[in-house]
Amino acid sequence: MTLSSNWRKSKQALPKGVNLLAVSKGHSSQVIQQLAELGQIDFGESRLQDAVPKIQALSKMKTLSWHFIGPLQSNKVRGVVQNFSFIHSIDSESLAERVARIAGEEKRSIKNFLQVKFLKDPTKGGVNPHDLDHLVPKLLDLPNFNLIGLMTMAPFNCPLNERKNLFQECRRYADHFNLKECSMGMSSDWQEAVEAGTTWLRLGSRLFGKRKD
Ligand SMILES: *Cc1c(COP(=O)(O)O)cnc(C)c1O
Repeated sequence: MTLSSNWRKSKQALPKGVNLLAVSKGHSSQVIQQLAELGQIDFGESRLQDAVPKIQALSKMKTLSWHFIGPLQSNKVRGVVQNFSFIHSIDSESLAERVARIAGEEKRSIKNFLQVKFLKDPTKGGVNPHDLDHLVPKLLDLPNFNLIGLMTMAPFNCPLNERKNLFQECRRYADHFNLKECSMGMSSDWQEAVEAGTTWLRLGSRLFGKRKD
């Protein structure tokens, strides 16, 4: 059984204060349950329609915490707010306002990350770092919206040494705004993210093995 050894190895490698988010997209509720039984609490999913059946199947495991990490379309916000505790992919002011309004209506308290795009990448969302000065104070003041940190992803072809700079930049912005959390680092660049001060590593294939995307 490699899942448990992958998980133990990953947990052991993490300094204190770095949380492990198990990215379970593409994997069944049975596999998620195996990991949950080892003690994993936080699971990440990137598509609402794939996640909801798994969340329902595992609803008896009360301690599990679900994180939405994919692109979030406005017509999916209510479903995400109803089913998830964290959103890592807030990438505009209007999306934040919508999440806040619906969280209020649904009486749900969601922890949110603002996704930032430090390098040009047409395949990914995220706000321009130059907009943070304007945006972060607004979101911190938004009722029913709990902004806990910044999230970023490196472009697909970004070399490892540049990833580290990018993660350090994200950490500096988060510190500047007194935001504790940084969601950064995936299976291929988790060490660079740890060195730069991530607090949430999002690991998929390193835990579960390769998936057919
Ligand atoms: C799929 C995904 C991950 C995990 O990727 P791995 O390379 O399998 O670790 C992390 N973050 C986001 C936003 C993802 O979509």
